Amino acid sequence: MAHGQHFLQIPGPSPVPERIQRAIDRQVIDHRGPEFQALGHDVLAGIREVFGTSGPVIIYPASGTGAWEAAIVNTLSPGDKVLMAETGQFATLWQKLASRFGIIVDFIPGDWRHGVNAAAIAAKLADDKAHAIKAVMVVHNETSTGCLSDIAAVKTAMGSHPALLMVDTISSLGSTPVRHEAWGADVTVSGSQKGLMLPPGLSFTAISDKAIAASKTNTLPRSYWDWSEMLTFNAKGFFPYTPASTLLYGLKEALAMLREEGLENVFARHQRLAAACRAAVRGWGLEILCQDPKVYSPILTGVVLPAGHDADNFRKIALEQFNISYGAGLGKVAGKVFRIGHLGDCNELTLMAALCATEMTLQLAGVPHKAGGVAAAMSSFTDENKKLRLSA
Ligand SMILES: *Cc1c(COP(=O)(O)O)cnc(C)c1O
Repeated sequence: MAHGQHFLQIPGPSPVPERIQRAIDRQVIDHRGPEFQALGHDVLAGIREVFGTSGPVIIYPASGTGAWEAAIVNTLSPGDKVLMAETGQFATLWQKLASRFGIIVDFIPGDWRHGVNAAAIAAKLADDKAHAIKAVMVVHNETSTGCLSDIAAVKTAMGSHPALLMVDTISSLGSTPVRHEAWGADVTVSGSQKGLMLPPGLSFTAISDKAIAASKTNTLPRSYWDWSEMLTFNAKGFFPYTPASTLLYGLKEALAMLREEGLENVFARHQRLAAACRAAVRGWGLEILCQDPKVYSPILTGVVLPAGHDADNFRKIALEQFNISYGAGLGKVAGKVFRIGHLGDCNELTLMAALCATEMTLQLAGVPHKAGGVAAAMSSFTDENKKLRLSA
């Protein structure tokens, strides 16, 4: 029988802080009344800052996958061509979803260990003189691998090509800068259960004027996901159908928490935790799944186990012995890697506990490794503090 706190160290859902749990734990309200209207206005305005936009952000009662679908059905038509990049499992799933709607996806192959190849996108678009490609769709933080792609570089690679830029920030929003407007993105989708520290159940879509213009002429049918209905109701603080009102109280609290800590401090904390986690992995002499240091994820770290060692068995032992959950290897890397999440409501000691469990489990599972990963992570924190003291 497990006792004490469970360590939910998966890269989403991330643990829900007490403050947010308390904010959600309340009676439901009339979603057509004045109390809801104030809440609606509040969260619809507040979420814009996290997306880096002054334009509309639509909130669906749905998982992130709903926002993926909404992005497609509101902007594209059957037979449209789009360009996507195979960064990992989530890019692969979004590509499959698009294909089911009759979208023709040119899926740039990837090895699941790097970010989006912007040069390959530039080359494809340069060849597309007739502008047949209607959208470039990329995943910002590829949660299956731990690579954080450079979205500004993707936009630069697009040059003057008129394709829409759609970005999946489902696991990056609230943990690392998302700059919908500065990137020049047209559709930026996200979810509640990762950097925003909420339970699963809400998804978000920031949209540009160009995306709204595309939604006026595209021909894929939609009803539940329709932006125009949403925008009409949202202008008055309401929703066209019953919103997830208690989760919206949670969102209000999450936005307050991010504002109190300061977004830049939140992002710096994620970088600090990620650096310590990578120091541990290197200290154990194990491989980090992401092979390009420029795109190391601040949100999670994928750890490759040596050949012949099953990552799922490793996770099973860790759960049984130490009451901790890691992210499983997904798709192509199933059984070969496990993922340590360090996002949302995570601090130095939460991560250190997780790394202690990791080092002990490596021992118990008989995975060849060097001692000293935990010590390397601690040094990474103390060195960081020393630097701060010296610069003060
Ligand atoms: C979690 C995740 C998704 C899927 O979101 P759901 O809420 O499970 O539908 C999509 N993309 C990325 C990058 C994710 O991390």
